Amino acid sequence: METHDPQRTRDADIVIVGGGAGGLELAVRLAKAGHKDILLIDRDTSHVWKPRLHEIAAGLGRRQVDELGYAGLAEQWGFRYECGTLASVEPEQRQITLAAIPGREDHASAEVPARVRGYRQLVLALGGVTPDMGVEGVLEHACLLDSPDDAERIAQQFSRGLLANHVAMETAPTGDAGVSATQGGAQVGAEGSTQDSAKESPGRPYQVVIVGSGATGVELAAYLHEARGMHDAPAPKGAKVEITILEATETFMPGVTQELRESIHQRLEEQGIKIELSRQVAKVSSGSVEISEGDESVTRDADLVVWAAGRVGPAIVEEIDALESNKKRQFTVTPGLQCLGHDSIFALGDCANIDEAPLPPTAQVASEQAEFLADELPRRQQGEPAQTFEFKDRGTLLSLSSAGSVGELSGKLSDKLGNAQGSKGNDDLQVRGRFARAAYQGLQRQHQFLLLGPLKGSAEVVSDVLRRSMGPRLKVH
Ligand SMILES: Cc1cc2nc3c(=O)[nH]c(=O)nc-3n(C[C@H](O)[C@H](O)[C@H](O)COP(=O)(O)OP(=O)(O)OC[C@H]3O[C@@H](n4cnc5c(N)ncnc54)[C@H](O)[C@@H]3O)c2cc1C
Repeated sequence: METHDPQRTRDADIVIVGGGAGGLELAVRLAKAGHKDILLIDRDTSHVWKPRLHEIAAGLGRRQVDELGYAGLAEQWGFRYECGTLASVEPEQRQITLAAIPGREDHASAEVPARVRGYRQLVLALGGVTPDMGVEGVLEHACLLDSPDDAERIAQQFSRGLLANHVAMETAPTGDAGVSATQGGAQVGAEGSTQDSAKESPGRPYQVVIVGSGATGVELAAYLHEARGMHDAPAPKGAKVEITILEATETFMPGVTQELRESIHQRLEEQGIKIELSRQVAKVSSGSVEISEGDESVTRDADLVVWAAGRVGPAIVEEIDALESNKKRQFTVTPGLQCLGHDSIFALGDCANIDEAPLPPTAQVASEQAEFLADELPRRQQGEPAQTFEFKDRGTLLSLSSAGSVGELSGKLSDKLGNAQGSKGNDDLQVRGRFARAAYQGLQRQHQFLLLGPLKGSAEVVSDVLRRSMGPRLKVH
């Protein structure tokens, strides 16, 4: 247990680290409820709603438009914001340390030294990342989809890859076209394999390989499919973009029900997206992936590889010795979201796990946990007993771009709709089409209304709808 006098060193009553789906909503909720002494810390200066990253990755969304600056939100609601990256937590001193920010050699920005911030209560809302699972070449040659920067890199690589393919088609001798990324050129990180290796070779489709058939991989596949003809070059005549989802297990989308799985599978296949099961990727190289099949391995062309295989907490979790964590790098928390053995430290969202009742890493969970803690933290300050967080699952919804939206609603909403349709309710309800799309967007609308308030929130929703319907939908680089 912490022993330090909280009043002596604290810089804020409540310090929240991580301004994502959970942490930012918590800061806004606490400030709206009248708490004056809230400090939100994030390594970035603006917030982007992650469930739309696949739109940015396909070039169909605009990061700049969707970004919300933390400083502006802090001013609007009356909490404080500080840019910083968590380096360590010292529970005995009730303080955290933020890493130094190096300055630039050209003096364009000054160096910021490491800082210590004291708290009375601390909330860790650090989110999650995609693990490379120890597979060789993932970090060097594949793209991840964890951040807006990642999403922009995918959009850039996809767009330039298609252009390189187009040019190779134009200049190839008759009958030959396309890019063979496996013939290699200079490779710079995860970017540029295709454009650097744009050599003529027998024509073949531009190959996109998505590793992992979770919601992220599936939605990205559908959006890339829609965007394939809208980039820096038109899709060349006769040439195709081939999108393949590789799933390591025998089951497509292991986390959803059979009915939903079949519905999504069918829609993707109708679009020509290939789905291959029991494909364990053993290595990613420049322009190819190696797949183990029993004792053998097969190498396959892959101009763009997106690694979307699961979710774990960030690396810093393992480095914080004072707090207990699991193998997935998540802080172990009580059913009241308190870190074990520390009554003034809490964790929520993707970086937290309740052993008794593990929950999926979704914005729904993070948002509900923020709502819970907005009530719980002040109660705990008053010495009241801990309450238990209960997740109210509202269902699973996926947007498959032009292939529509599908999903299952759970809980009250499902009951209401079920009753309206004459069914008994209480079961998950399958939804499709416009209604599913509206329900899918509902989660973000709620987030926007909470963060921006009813007036700005409504304006944001209207402008979003107009942007979508009036186009051009493709982001201009
Ligand atoms: C492509 C994609 C699609 C998704 N689609 C859906 C969907 O349709 N529905 C759904 O419910 N969920 C979806 N999710 C999952 C959802 O986005 C996450 O579960 C949710 O954002 C988790 O919220 P969080 O608050 O825990 O973390 P995040 O929203 O990830 O926020 C974490 C914050 O912490 C900051 N941070 C991290 N480390 C540090 C540090 N050391 N110091 C300071 N700041 C730090 C980050 O900058 C970030 O702002 C999707 C995720 C992705 C990537």
